[in-house]
Amino acid sequence: MNPKSRVKDERCLPQLKQGMANMVIAGWARSKWMVTAAVCGLLASCANGPPTVPSPKPGVEQPPAPETGPIAYPSSGHLGMDAWRDDFSNRAMGAGHDRALVKSLLEGIHPLPLWLGAEIQAQTAPSAQAEFAKPIWDYLKVPMGETRISAGQAKLASLGPTLDSVEARYGVDKRVLLAIWGMETNFGGFIGNDDAANALANMAVEGRRRKFAEDELYALMTIVERGFARREDLGSGWAGAMGQTQFMPSTYIAHAEDFDGDGRKDVWKSEADALASAANYLARSGYVKGQPWGIEVRLPDNFDYSLSDGNERRMETWMAAGLTPIIGGPFETAGAEFAELWVPAGHLGPKYLLFKNFNVFKTYNRADSYAFAVGLSGDAIVGRRGPLTAWPVHLAPLTVLEIRDLQQALADRGFDVGAVDGIAGRRTKLAVQAFQKTQGLVADGYPTRQVLDLLKSPEPVAAVTGSN
Ligand code: CA
Repeated sequence: MNPKSRVKDERCLPQLKQGMANMVIAGWARSKWMVTAAVCGLLASCANGPPTVPSPKPGVEQPPAPETGPIAYPSSGHLGMDAWRDDFSNRAMGAGHDRALVKSLLEGIHPLPLWLGAEIQAQTAPSAQAEFAKPIWDYLKVPMGETRISAGQAKLASLGPTLDSVEARYGVDKRVLLAIWGMETNFGGFIGNDDAANALANMAVEGRRRKFAEDELYALMTIVERGFARREDLGSGWAGAMGQTQFMPSTYIAHAEDFDGDGRKDVWKSEADALASAANYLARSGYVKGQPWGIEVRLPDNFDYSLSDGNERRMETWMAAGLTPIIGGPFETAGAEFAELWVPAGHLGPKYLLFKNFNVFKTYNRADSYAFAVGLSGDAIVGRRGPLTAWPVHLAPLTVLEIRDLQQALADRGFDVGAVDGIAGRRTKLAVQAFQKTQGLVADGYPTRQVLDLLKSPEPVAAVTGSN
């Protein structure tokens, strides 16, 4: 139990005195912010009490000298974690963070199997790589499923006035806020069972993102020090993202909002705070209200798919190239002048012009599939279901191992695929596109079995172009 909430439960003067004494004994006097917060709490909870804090009586036993030096923690059960904690704890106090706060964040850390379990160390086994790379239509099943969309529609109905005021204040369309809220935590249904300090400590000890994790731990300290939230509020998912719209601590400091005006930025329990925080983040990332994130398009026959190269071009250029909205009529972009052409599942699947707002969604999560799900599900919540073009589900997806093979084969032929990692990202797509061009194929960049087979054949160029 956090001592501050105990103190806040005190109700009148005798308790106020006792509370102050306890506070000094607890060694809080070294921290101005904590003293201020605690005194404010005491006074607020004693509305009928005297306006000033009485001085301790002379002759009262002096509190013990403040604790100094390294904090002695009970073992976490993990030697590496214990060693990291001793070191980090000293650095945090050396950087001026309050001893009691540092202790409260670090004393309960323990190894999580997901981060530090033995099975994780063996997770490079081929079994993981033999999985099929999830096609985008599979990824969309949950966010676009009837359960999620109707839950979003129910929230739209029940939180109407709140959503309207958040939309008005921050200039972010409410369907987008609902979509992100749904993607992140199923509208607050699952905000994670971990403690942010513990999750981040595990990440730090695991090691690959130690600096990032430590910076986020410092941000947690700042959150409590500035009074934005209390130590016991800091629940998170397994990677340290907090609350209904899953803010990392540093994002929280930069963008969290107290929309309901209760004095705390409660992204965990206050729907208004969580939605306003997400809206504030999107607005500061450049969201433009009313503009589309994407428009599904129809392409002319014999279209040059090399234009789907990730580059933004003017709308005039796209219209001159023969693109039209698949729903018919003129393009309605609400002032957006530039778009990129995105062909997520090859020339047989849906094609989109993507606008600035799509990239704003990606500040939340860098995956195209994530941003796409936000855009599509937000539209679906307000009754506009897409895409209209069917997905090419007959194209058997490659396994992760096969995508690695494809990347390696492309790299061996001098194409730039970035990392050979089994993930068909944008650079892999561009490399596939370049290879398809050399083969006289439709250069849509989609990694099909046909492309892989061609790459794996001994002399693919001769096989395709050399015969007469
Ligand atoms: Ca609040």
